[in-house]
Amino acid sequence: MNIDKGIPILVTGATGYVAGWLVKRLVEEGLTVHAPVRDPGDAGKLQYLNEIAASAPGKIRYFKADLLQPGSYEQAMTGCQTVFHTASPFRIDVKDAQKELIEPAQLGTRNVLETANRTPSVTRVVLTSSCAAIAGDNADLDNTPGRIFTEEVWNTSSSLVHQPYSYSKTLAEREAWKIAGSQNRWRLVTINPSLVIGPGINPNGTSESFNIIRQFGDGTMKIGVPNLGLGVVDVRDVAEAHFRAAFNPEANGRNITSGHNTSLPELAAALLERYGKDYPIPRRTLPKWLVWWVGPIANKALTRKMVSLNIGRPWIADNSRSRNELGIHYRPLADSMNEFFQQLVETGQFAK
Ligand code: NAP
Repeated sequence: MNIDKGIPILVTGATGYVAGWLVKRLVEEGLTVHAPVRDPGDAGKLQYLNEIAASAPGKIRYFKADLLQPGSYEQAMTGCQTVFHTASPFRIDVKDAQKELIEPAQLGTRNVLETANRTPSVTRVVLTSSCAAIAGDNADLDNTPGRIFTEEVWNTSSSLVHQPYSYSKTLAEREAWKIAGSQNRWRLVTINPSLVIGPGINPNGTSESFNIIRQFGDGTMKIGVPNLGLGVVDVRDVAEAHFRAAFNPEANGRNITSGHNTSLPELAAALLERYGKDYPIPRRTLPKWLVWWVGPIANKALTRKMVSLNIGRPWIADNSRSRNELGIHYRPLADSMNEFFQQLVETGQFAK
């Protein structure tokens, strides 16, 4: 990889969970990161990024921008060759999916990529998409050739009212490929992670990843977990995949970035040995009929349709492209789970 350290790199959403490790990787490489954030005056939010930069050879320059404000990324992008577009809300519990998820994802992607079209220095855009843009429900596997999710597959099952986060990521990635296809100066590479886990640069992250793992220790799941199949990947592996997608000259297309095809009961089991005595780690798998019956009352996102299309069904994806072409060596699942949980313990996130 040939990296020119004199050229700044743009990272949208630098304050986020996934971007934190990427920014760390870049400044440790000696690069200057241009970080457009919603509020450059929010010292508390930027504290963790500033700590990373303080001990690294590279630096971070902040700019003010918002996904929904056309043109607001222009100043930050000036002179950059590489654009990482990670900013997009990852939340499951929303009141207005159109405003809270779809618009920032789709219009935000259009905003950032149209700015790339107007910025002559840009030659590569790495978009943080998601496995949610590949499949919306585990039942999609039934209609997928070979019963395995690959980069060829697109999510066609999500909508504004069913799995709206997955729908937002699908619309955003489609928008990105449409804009990329209308020009030939910059190349688009997408990183499609499954559920990201592992300790955050900011230990008080607000990404849904934190909410999900917190529930393994705060008692929410003490009676058990549904048998939900899912993919997981360590946040540090996701950062490395982004880095290689930008600087490996051959990187291209979509890249499933998922370390393990697993399930909620397996994630819980990974925590039992170390934390089972002191925390209410779930030990039982809830029967599907019970989740179908009680789920929608306990959790608004657990609709009956969601339960019937996902619970008790495996999630299986092929990660060979990211291993062979980007050279990613995925961390063991138990390490990611235990290190993430330990961070939540150490920062007092389980009321006892
Ligand atoms: P996160 O911690 O909530 O980060 C989201 C980032 O987007 C934050 O920096 C946030 O800025 C920014 N953002 C949100 N709305 C914005 C707006 N209107 N204008 C400007 N910035 C805005 O979530 P994350 O988990 O790191 O997610 C980052 C990316 O990874 C997203 O594209 C997500 O879809 C993708 N992804 C995540 C996972 C996962 O399991 N975590 C899996 C697959 C893909 P503020 O700090 O100002 O709020």
